[in-house]
Amino acid sequence: MYGETTFTWEYVCGYETREQRKRRVFRRLYMLTIALCLSCLVAAIIVRLTAMGGLKALTDMMGETETIPSEETTKPVYVVEEQIFAAAQAAAAKTQEIVPAVVETEHIPIIYLDPGHGGTDEGCARNGVREKDINLAIALLVRERLIEQGYEVIMSRDTDTYIAKEERVKEANESGADIYISIHQNATDEGTAVSGMEVWYEEDNSGRDSKRLAQLIRQQTLKSTGAAERELRGDADFHVTRNTSMPACLIETGFLSNAAERKMLSLSEYQQKIADGIVQGISYYFHPKTMYLTFDDGPSEENTQRVLDILRDRNIKATFFLVGENVRQHPEMARRIVAEGHTIGIHCNNHDYETLYQSVDSYVEDFEKARQTVYEVTGVETNLFRFPGGSVNAYNKKVGQAIIEEMTDRGYIYYDWNASLEDAVKNPDPEKLIANGVETTFGRKKVILLAHDVVYSTGICLEELLDSLPEYEMKPLSEEVTPIQF
Ligand SMILES: [Zn+2]
Repeated sequence: MYGETTFTWEYVCGYETREQRKRRVFRRLYMLTIALCLSCLVAAIIVRLTAMGGLKALTDMMGETETIPSEETTKPVYVVEEQIFAAAQAAAAKTQEIVPAVVETEHIPIIYLDPGHGGTDEGCARNGVREKDINLAIALLVRERLIEQGYEVIMSRDTDTYIAKEERVKEANESGADIYISIHQNATDEGTAVSGMEVWYEEDNSGRDSKRLAQLIRQQTLKSTGAAERELRGDADFHVTRNTSMPACLIETGFLSNAAERKMLSLSEYQQKIADGIVQGISYYFHPKTMYLTFDDGPSEENTQRVLDILRDRNIKATFFLVGENVRQHPEMARRIVAEGHTIGIHCNNHDYETLYQSVDSYVEDFEKARQTVYEVTGVETNLFRFPGGSVNAYNKKVGQAIIEEMTDRGYIYYDWNASLEDAVKNPDPEKLIANGVETTFGRKKVILLAHDVVYSTGICLEELLDSLPEYEMKPLSEEVTPIQF
């Protein structure tokens, strides 16, 4: 419905005299001009006020308390505006810098370096070679390298002075240091043949991650020096390892009671090698490489359980590519895998290569069956999978590519591997499996390691294998992980 009309008859018909029309037009022009002037004035005032307020807001934002110098306020408005613009740009630039800076400076690790003994306390000594001097020499080299790499370093002593161990620990605990490394030399009266390196830590304080630190320091220092391998001891019970509040270890880099080793330890080249090893260990401690442990063919009853127990005790999450038939046989184990936070992927329903790789249809049918089983038993709907035998194998030459295309179209992602225990053989020897794992992993920054939780030897060697790979942080696969594909 339309509203009441308000126009008049005269207006519509143009019924007015020439004089009337002239006056009306003039009146309108006059009103328009005044209105224009008024709005210009108001606009100018608003601009000015906003500008002053804006500048203040900007300076406040930049954390500057001082006001604009008085001579600037007397400058014409456009100059102030230019300054505001420049200030705004500077502020914007400042904000842009802050974002990455915050990410980068998440935390600069603080290393507490503790060269043992010092001053009146010489430590052990043989033939005029004193432990306190070698400890300090190595520690100074470590400090130099660490600072080059951007670490913050605190030293219990950087000169030949006596400092009680209680004092060292107190200072370290109060400093907020992230790790504590004590450097010592060994000696024994049990024979001059004894030589080699030992690293000590406190096993019963696993929350401190001291074991991984000790493993890394040991692994990397042995590698850089070629020194004889001695124990990694978790029962240190030294004041500095026991009473420090951060991950801590103590390294005995060699025996002064062994003439050959004593000579080496006195050489600055050898001291540098020790220092390089310690620094590399520290570097891996803070910047580990990544490993995705993957277990195929399970679950089984005892073997999967053994693997899960080890992973749980070490707080490691892995990935299990399950076989549908085994999930139906051991549903509790499949549920335990999920409950303990591991990733589940599909391997197959029936691990029979011939039937699987007959055609695209036979593959997909088997796969969907396994996926359905896993969903029914565990409630997990996964789109991660691994081809039995890998994506390229002796059985899928004709249909492999077509299967990959079909599976990709269906939204599934497959993961091959770039390291392997090679444990899918008859009666594998645990020692050999560890060697395989370490060798195939060697030097890689990102590793997807193939293993089989159904294999007895794999469960048996897993502890030692993990101990051999302290430079890796173990993570579970997820859709976000770029797959390794043959
Ligand atoms: Zn398999």
